[in-house]
Amino acid sequence: MDVKSFGSTRPQPDARPAAVRPDLSRGRGYLAIPGPSVMPDRVLNAMHRAAPNIYAGDLTEMVVEMWPDLRAVAGTTQHVAAYIGNGHAAWEAANANLFSRGDLALVLATGRFGLGWAESARAMGVEVEVMDFGTSAPVDMARVEARLRADGAGRIKAVLTTHVDTSSSVRTDIAALRAAIDAAGHPALLCVDCIASLGCDEYRMDDWGVDLTVAASQKGLMTPPGMSFVWFSEKARAVGAQADLRTPYWDWRKRAEPEEFWQYWAGTAPTHHLYGLREALNMLHEEGMAQVWARHEVLARTVWAAFEAWGAGHPRIGLNVADPAHRSRAVTAARLGAPDATRLRQWTEAQAGVTLGIGLGMAPPGDPEWHGFLRVAHMGHVNAHMTLGALAVMEAGLIALDIPHGAGALDAAAKVIAAG
Ligand SMILES: *Cc1c(COP(=O)(O)O)cnc(C)c1O
Repeated sequence: MDVKSFGSTRPQPDARPAAVRPDLSRGRGYLAIPGPSVMPDRVLNAMHRAAPNIYAGDLTEMVVEMWPDLRAVAGTTQHVAAYIGNGHAAWEAANANLFSRGDLALVLATGRFGLGWAESARAMGVEVEVMDFGTSAPVDMARVEARLRADGAGRIKAVLTTHVDTSSSVRTDIAALRAAIDAAGHPALLCVDCIASLGCDEYRMDDWGVDLTVAASQKGLMTPPGMSFVWFSEKARAVGAQADLRTPYWDWRKRAEPEEFWQYWAGTAPTHHLYGLREALNMLHEEGMAQVWARHEVLARTVWAAFEAWGAGHPRIGLNVADPAHRSRAVTAARLGAPDATRLRQWTEAQAGVTLGIGLGMAPPGDPEWHGFLRVAHMGHVNAHMTLGALAVMEAGLIALDIPHGAGALDAAAKVIAAG
């Protein structure tokens, strides 16, 4: 700190000298990008401790007790394997334990992340057929059913999809997808990427007949990046028993049913992440999953209401997904027209301490159109004042940057919060 900046002892004039520009980004920043999400102080504080013993004692007991809660958060009583890794690691873990070289997977893509899982599987030697529904449309269940019916020989071993594709913010109706697979009478496993949605969007693995779910710690689970999870059904365990892509480290068998503590991780446990995750699960449990989903629902609607007002009479501005039924409750993708999305993001971060998400998969990086897209996250440890604050900052940015927009966005957003 420069001592001079405290000022001299001479009396100061009331008016702010013209040279002083306030830095309105001071104060706690808000990272409103779709992962990593905001970390609760409770989670951070739980991690702030000395290194624990990994062979016996508190940590080992805590993990054994935590596993049922970890199953519950995904809505399953079946199996779960944990990994020290991010979402990409969880994809690879799922692929390694399900498939043999040359097996066929049908990937339903509604954005960049569905395609990412497809690329991961293909690179490992799985034959991948992609049904690409574009970047703003939902999965067409009739097309999926027809494709499965045409697979009389049952070559398709698994259907892989995203619950929420974080790039497009399209949400897939997983229960409807299960119904389409059943209607076709096809035995394929249903495998779902819930990395963006778990702990935000309603998800019921067992009730919806899902065979495999992947998620990571840093989004709705409110814990730093570095852990990921694969939940799998008894059917997936049996089908995957012969998988020849499995290697010792990724093998889910010992991780899901360890005889010794180290086998949960195939090595040293992610000690501090586990304390953080324990606290995050406590927080979700205290609130109740139905409440957690309802909170995200209201916050998502608040963001939608603001964008609808900004876009009224200004078609350059709009939400990426037209039908609310197909929109995520964890993240909202929108367009502002190039280059205004980038200008707005830069303004909100530099001038007001709110970091918005870049657009992903809507235009290639390097294309001027890339600067027309952004995403607003409302995942995890977020509440009304954070979402309203982010929207109010965006409104200030639209004004400051002379970006034409419709009026009444904050009023519309406040009304959604008021209606609860
Ligand atoms: C974030 C995300 C991923 C990738 O996770 P990483 O931790 O960045 O590897 C994959 N799928 C979805 C749906 C995501 O939101």
